[in-house]
Amino acid sequence: MTQIQKSNSELVTQHYLGKTTENRTMYYLQISQPSDKIKKIIWMDCGIHAREWISPAFCQWFVKEILQNYKSDPKIRRFLQNLDLYILPVLNIDGYIYSWEKDRLWRKNRSPHMNGTCYGTDLNRNFNSSWGSIGVSYNCSSEIFCGSGPESEPETRAVAQFIKNKSSDILCYLTIHSYGQYILTPYGSTTKPPSNNEELVGQHIHLLQAVTCGTSLFTLLPFLQRKMAAAALMGKYGTSYKVGATSLILYSNSGSSRDWAHTIGIPFSYTFELRDKGTHGFVLPPDQIQHTCEETMLAVTAIIDYVDRKYFPGGAVMLTASSLGLSLCLSVILTWNVS
Ligand SMILES: [Zn+2]
Repeated sequence: MTQIQKSNSELVTQHYLGKTTENRTMYYLQISQPSDKIKKIIWMDCGIHAREWISPAFCQWFVKEILQNYKSDPKIRRFLQNLDLYILPVLNIDGYIYSWEKDRLWRKNRSPHMNGTCYGTDLNRNFNSSWGSIGVSYNCSSEIFCGSGPESEPETRAVAQFIKNKSSDILCYLTIHSYGQYILTPYGSTTKPPSNNEELVGQHIHLLQAVTCGTSLFTLLPFLQRKMAAAALMGKYGTSYKVGATSLILYSNSGSSRDWAHTIGIPFSYTFELRDKGTHGFVLPPDQIQHTCEETMLAVTAIIDYVDRKYFPGGAVMLTASSLGLSLCLSVILTWNVS
């Protein structure tokens, strides 16, 4: 992170976030284009679960891609004018190191409980949103132990305090996990949908428009059955993702960072579950790292692009209904949207 900051000092700064249970320092990277404009924030964290190694790999890939392409890629160039990107590459540092050195399938952090007879809280059950109510365990030897109380863990507190302080400026909260190939929206703790559910899931017509209208009608049709980010992702290697509310398409859980971020007022909040669907599970083979990162990049930038256009309309690349291509495109979408 220090290296990245040094070699990209015009864009990147490294900041202190907090300390882990084992007293390691947590830093995040901020990617900001210098500007007088008031900007909003996109937050992304990786590696909240130790064994999900593809997740920290993606955060690194994301930073690399942004820095490599922000001058040439019109989409990135556009959203960096309005949005700062805050990236926490490894949230659960202690657990991540433990998964490298001691137990490849370790999930939780490394906080001791019961006089050091069992270790680890599931940090993604430890946030202050319906804490301890569903999909958790109070047994500290469980994989889904929710801790002794909401935000009982220093890693959770560090992230939660920071995000709370900036919550009015954060438009989008992204948290990267594996595996299963899902893009999960709130909530995990209830099947009741959030008020902006349609837009979150991406069935809103403008979402499809933004993604599909650059492509030919021939490739358009399969996209229409997909949701925006998943459609963008599938376009690269044909990997299919399910999109929907956590409690409806995966399982119920409480105290997740995604639910919490949405309940404190961050409008767009997503959990990504990257490859695969269980063949290799957490131990994704190295030859899938790059493809996974490439396709995920498309989904994440599609979401950021949408958020950017929604909150900062009127940019140079806004779609105009006057073009023949778009009216064709629109009519196809309208027809398909009602079916
Ligand atoms: Zn996870």
